[in-house]
Amino acid sequence: MKTEFDIAVLPGDGIGVDVTVEAVKVLQALPARSTGFTLRFQTHEAGAICYQRTGADLPPATVAEARAADAILLGAMGHPDIRRPDGTELAPQVTLRVLLDLYAGVRPCKLYPGVRSPLAEVRSGEIDLVIIREQTEGLFASQNCGIVLHDQLATETLIMTRNGVQRVCDFAFRLAARRKHALPKRTRTVTCVDKANIFKSFAFFRKVFDEVAARHPDIRADHAYIDAQALYLVQRPRQLDVLVTENLFGDILSDLGAGLIGGMGMAPSADIGDRHGVFQPAHGTAPDIAGKGIANPLAAILSAGMMLDWLGERHGNAVLQDASVRIERAVASVLAAQKVLPVDQGGSAHTSEVGDAVAAALA
Ligand code: ATP
Repeated sequence: MKTEFDIAVLPGDGIGVDVTVEAVKVLQALPARSTGFTLRFQTHEAGAICYQRTGADLPPATVAEARAADAILLGAMGHPDIRRPDGTELAPQVTLRVLLDLYAGVRPCKLYPGVRSPLAEVRSGEIDLVIIREQTEGLFASQNCGIVLHDQLATETLIMTRNGVQRVCDFAFRLAARRKHALPKRTRTVTCVDKANIFKSFAFFRKVFDEVAARHPDIRADHAYIDAQALYLVQRPRQLDVLVTENLFGDILSDLGAGLIGGMGMAPSADIGDRHGVFQPAHGTAPDIAGKGIANPLAAILSAGMMLDWLGERHGNAVLQDASVRIERAVASVLAAQKVLPVDQGGSAHTSEVGDAVAAALA
């Protein structure tokens, strides 16, 4: 059994740098207490500042190291003032999804103890859902390929392939089957979120979803239109389990989901393919708070926990999966204690103090 893992660390820009330091700190606090695996960290350059300095936002050497690593831990990338000559913002984290074929964007939305949801009646533990965002096609497939005609008409093309839809739906059902711990008394359900009533492409998405669902009879399959699903996320988040959807819909829904569980600082994510996995907080570089030491690192720390779970499942190493559970418990205990709270959760703790508290709670 494989027990040594190379982790490529890509902190990126803005608060990506601050929160990644804390995620690595927490991971390093683990192995002393968890025999059974070793993590080796190697940091690599990528992002807007890298582009400014070298002319490349994702240098070939970084891509090669990311490919060779067992997993990739990413902070956040981009800067509103650093753009390509055509005016577009740099998004190397999106490029990485394409290069490494990371087709499933996993966006858990979980309301931890001590965190207040803007939904007045929802208590901690009552929101525990996962949004699966297809990440290699959909409307993002035409990124950088849109056409503007004579400053009068603009067009972008949405792409859906049978293979692309099939694999992300299959991923969603397999994930639902693993979520026995989440809301244990409820029937596991995967909801296909689309706009099949209007668009042929989304009717195709739903058709392929139904075919995949038939191969997973133990999991309930459900459907919702994207507009209604936005409403249900707010009205009845307690009833939702796993949602699978197109790239842009998933992009928007996952920020809405983050809003329900304490904001971007609480929302982890993973970009998963058949061979590679990138783990990063769902937030961006937040230039408004970058360098102030007030970013909430918990989303990045929870993403690091997701990385251990993925590595553990992939390599049949239960110790790694156990370590992932311990990281999540440590985060929950820090939040429940209400002593060291990040600024976005109403506290005054600096980014590094929150990381220290989680590392200490692991003990
Ligand atoms: P992008 O455009 O790439 O999504 P962004 O930085 O413009 O990136 P988000 O990252 O989505 O936008 O963040 C929106 C706002 O949420 C930020 O401006 C910031 O105020 C807040 N925020 C995001 N992440 C955190 C965090 N980790 N801790 C505290 N506040 C955060």
